[in-house]
Amino acid sequence: MMTVRCPCCQREIEWSDRWPQRPFCSERCRLIDLGAWASEAYFIAGQACAPEDEEAGQPDTGPAN
Ligand SMILES: [Zn+2]
Repeated sequence: MMTVRCPCCQREIEWSDRWPQRPFCSERCRLIDLGAWASEAYFIAGQACAPEDEEAGQPDTGPAN
């Protein structure tokens, strides 16, 4: 399985349909990253996007089963 790191929080995710927001780990990270670009604050975005260690291993969105 190919893995990538979320450009926002550097969390490692699988490149698969389990992660519909890839290369971001979650919709939250995707929106933060897009928002950062829009506001030209990307280069300091590290302060706005922290890893969600407590939720490691679980995507924020996806099949609910
Ligand atoms: Zn992320």
